[in-house]
Amino acid sequence: MSRLVVRDLARAFGGVQAVDGVSFALGAGELLALIGPNGAGKSTCFNLLNGQLRPDRGSIRLDGRELAGLPPRRIWRLGVGRTFQITATFASMTVRENVQTVLLSRHRCLSGLWRPAASRFRDEAQALLDRVGMGTQAERPCGVLAYGDLKRVELAMALAGDPGLLLMDEPTAGMAPGERQELMALTAALAHDRRMAVLFTEHDMDVVFGYADRILVLDRGRPIAEGAPAAVRADPRVRAVYLGDEA
Ligand code: ADP
Ligand code: MG
Repeated sequence: MSRLVVRDLARAFGGVQAVDGVSFALGAGELLALIGPNGAGKSTCFNLLNGQLRPDRGSIRLDGRELAGLPPRRIWRLGVGRTFQITATFASMTVRENVQTVLLSRHRCLSGLWRPAASRFRDEAQALLDRVGMGTQAERPCGVLAYGDLKRVELAMALAGDPGLLLMDEPTAGMAPGERQELMALTAALAHDRRMAVLFTEHDMDVVFGYADRILVLDRGRPIAEGAPAAVRADPRVRAVYLGDEA
């Protein structure tokens, strides 16, 4: 059963067809890697899915509901989460408060948003932090965390929105190889446990081929291959365009 069904998604910038007829489906618990050379349209795809950009055409259905053209906030409420960067504003708040902020927002408790001492959703926030391995650091300000730990907090914040689809644009950028493997193993376990679909981009091919259930390859906005990692790796078009055929 597919949670996400994308059909014929397209978006141009002036004369550049950044995304040109992208279709794919994604099931509960599944990890799909979106790869392709620079300028292939990966980020544009993400921004179409999360509502930052409006598609020129195409359909995006999550659990049967059409999302194409809706504003980002509404799309988030309907279950499209993403790992968002913790900004300076949030760096001074504790790890747990950051997660609570998202929970307050999800439950529309606007008055409580800027009261850091708010005790609402404390237990739920703590449970999410425990799940991503950050439970013991809940009281620390985000600003003092190691980079890899910050990534885990960002993941907990994305989960606080209870997403059916999680978007991760280069989740392991800037991380050490060991940390990358840990973050992706955690992501795969979370996807499985929560029946969440995950779409991610990634430059590290060890991560892509190690953790993706399927891979979708874009080139100049168009899908050129899709399938299991082994099939994609062997695809001559992929080798020619993207991986670089040594022959
Ligand atoms: P990727 O993430 O795969 O590197 P992008 O989606 O960022 O690719 O870009 C796809 C194409 O669309 C590129 O040619 C890029 O220059 C162009 N593009 C992306 N965003 C914009 C924008 N906001 N305005 C104009 N052109 C853009
Ligand atoms: Mg990009």
